[in-house]
Amino acid sequence: MNVVCVAAHQDDIELHCLGTLIKYREQGDVTITNVVITNGDKGGQFDPSLSYEEVAAIRHEEATAVAEALGGRYVCLGETDEYLRNTDETLNHLLDVLREAKADIVFAPPPVDYNTDHTIASQMAFQATMLAGVRTIFTAHEPLAAYPPVYYMDPVTGLDWQPTHYVDITAVFERKCALLRLHKSQMLNMQTSGGWDLVEYARIVGAFRGLQCGVEYAEAFKPALAWPRVRPGNWLP
Ligand SMILES: [Zn+2]
Repeated sequence: MNVVCVAAHQDDIELHCLGTLIKYREQGDVTITNVVITNGDKGGQFDPSLSYEEVAAIRHEEATAVAEALGGRYVCLGETDEYLRNTDETLNHLLDVLREAKADIVFAPPPVDYNTDHTIASQMAFQATMLAGVRTIFTAHEPLAAYPPVYYMDPVTGLDWQPTHYVDITAVFERKCALLRLHKSQMLNMQTSGGWDLVEYARIVGAFRGLQCGVEYAEAFKPALAWPRVRPGNWLP
């Protein structure tokens, strides 16, 4: 199975889907591609003297380290952080990455969240999963043979969102925390801007979603109920 995660920023996938990716990896025959649409260059609030180029380079390195630790691949589309627009060019870039990865399932940000980069990335992932199978849209790679199902991740703190599908990540939770710490700059950034760090956040939200489904830690999802992206069977690990 080819698993593709789409997000706006370098740590977005990890917060709400990393335990699930670790579980997929443990199943064996799985490829993992983490696609981040922006370059994350506004994520240097812990040290505003850093240039945008320096911050983007740090975040590229961190996201690559996490993807490699998963045995996966990190792809950055390089759009400007915090000013993401759903242009034809960026959408074609995204859908071509889905084609190249031969995506069987796509995780995406939810359509509601606090940051418009997130909600635009959600719209783009939704649209790209359909256009990637359309044979009259021409990109560098062949159209997908089947439309991949889309599973939306949690928004930040779960606000205004009710998931329907839960993955028990209790057994891999400490591994998730270890990989989150690879985002050294964002561990600092979240302390500066929110007063919490990525691991503390993951513990609270993981325990909250775990409480809802009777396990210690969980990640929660909601599939997009949109033709032709609905498929039978259980696609989650
Ligand atoms: Zn983000």
